Amino acid sequence: MSTLSRLPSTLLASLRPSRRHVTRQFAAACTLAALAAISLDASVLAAQGEPVDRAAVEKIRREAFEHSQVMTLLSWLTDVHGPRLTGSPTTRRAADFTVDRLRQWGLSDPRIEAWPNFGRGWTNEKFYAQVTAPVPFPIIGYPQAWTPGTTGLVKSQVVYVKIDSDADFANYKGKLAGKIVMLAPMREVPARFEPLAARRSDASLETLANAPMPQPAATGPRQSAPRTAADSAAVRQQDALRANAAVAARRMAFIQDEKVAAVLEPGRGDGGTVFTNNGQSRDPKTPFGTPLIAVAIEHYGRILRTIEKGVPVEMELEVRNTFHDGDLGSFNILAEIPGTDPQLKNEVVMLGAHFDSWHAGTGATDNAAGSAAMLEAVRVLQAAGLKPKRTIRIALWTGEEQGLLGSRAYVRQHLGTRDSLTEEGKRISGYFNLDNGTGAIRGVYLQGNSAVAPIFSAWMQPFADKGVKTVTLNNTGGTDHLAFDGVGIPGFQFIQDEIEYGTRTHHSNMDTYERLQAPDMQLNAAVIASFVWHAANRAAPLPRKPSPNSIRP
Ligand SMILES: [Zn+2]
Repeated sequence: MSTLSRLPSTLLASLRPSRRHVTRQFAAACTLAALAAISLDASVLAAQGEPVDRAAVEKIRREAFEHSQVMTLLSWLTDVHGPRLTGSPTTRRAADFTVDRLRQWGLSDPRIEAWPNFGRGWTNEKFYAQVTAPVPFPIIGYPQAWTPGTTGLVKSQVVYVKIDSDADFANYKGKLAGKIVMLAPMREVPARFEPLAARRSDASLETLANAPMPQPAATGPRQSAPRTAADSAAVRQQDALRANAAVAARRMAFIQDEKVAAVLEPGRGDGGTVFTNNGQSRDPKTPFGTPLIAVAIEHYGRILRTIEKGVPVEMELEVRNTFHDGDLGSFNILAEIPGTDPQLKNEVVMLGAHFDSWHAGTGATDNAAGSAAMLEAVRVLQAAGLKPKRTIRIALWTGEEQGLLGSRAYVRQHLGTRDSLTEEGKRISGYFNLDNGTGAIRGVYLQGNSAVAPIFSAWMQPFADKGVKTVTLNNTGGTDHLAFDGVGIPGFQFIQDEIEYGTRTHHSNMDTYERLQAPDMQLNAAVIASFVWHAANRAAPLPRKPSPNSIRP
């Protein structure tokens, strides 16, 4: 069976463009096919001859490991200037601090670039919650973002409002004004038999390395009638979800009309860890809703179980939140290390991360970790005296947590669209992103861009001693490289160790400096500095994926 027949269909399809392109692609594909048959083994791929600047890597490693400033940066961005919810004055102060550091490191034109239509900002200035009877105890809790505060100090009985159907509303009509209410039942809180922190195993990295070429997203007409039992189960489930959402919306409207003082919600997480989110729209036209408080599950459970025994629970609550309607836009932070090569200096290599965070912790692993690694990477290049051929541009986005708003705005403002890239868009060689926590880089997701596999494998070689060795054809989502990948500009997120990202820190009150791992952060800055350096100096820009139109049959 010839190797060609083992090539995934998508890779075959990508061979269709021009003859010269085909022969080059074909050559690359054959080598890759042979390799795909045995997995994307970085060391084999690295032997494909992509040059590695060992002298520069040595300088980068020395500066990043022996003179690291990454943890100091992180303490400033978290302890002093955290959290960094988009639209809040704290985020602006953090940005001013960052621009000042970029200027101190000698980058050119460090700046804050505005983008429009984010909506109103929001900050929480005070949260006090205390059960006063039957037994006093303080409550761990956080207002959900973009919700209003209480009208001063509220002293009230806590009421469990059980509304599961329209018939239940009458039970509470006219009885809830000024009350603190609970709407949700208690949930199971299972013991944790698995460790909170984890690193990727060799087996899981091998699985990634063996992943097939991702299939382009299905296009064309949506499936009309459910074909299988599973389909109809899915449809039934969707209907049930929609029905629940409808009751929940009517319940919330009722609660609002009843003028309750606040709603307590069972916070996701346990052990004092509370994950928060946004509770209401940022649209300035949206009327203020009801204060919503995510409460630690252990405290939520104690109150509810007491109430269910007919024992009244009294509580004091004061929440002070401020909405910022002055500037309804937001910003990105940008700066450059100018290119030096007459031919290449107008081409650009970008690196970035989102600067914004949620509000309960200090946004340490999400995403001061990514921002500081990028900042430290450019500081390291400057301190090592490395002058790139292409221009290197650092970009720190806001609005990521609300939908990649900052990075998408940047691409829209500067780089164009997939079908019509601007001149600047054509000159971007690639974009490197970091946004999966504090964990060490272990490799790169290729977003289906197989042609970069041997290139990145070679660039990882100098860090193989640190476990940086995996390239996978897989896509990964949920963060800012998608804004670039979406218009056909090579955009990559690194594969990282999980540490406590999913179990403890991602959007929680415990996302603080203590969760950051210094050796991982130093390594990440070094790997990123090296990748960006090599991308800025290689003879050709990074190869781009054949456009989806040329892949789809
Ligand atoms: Zn993030």
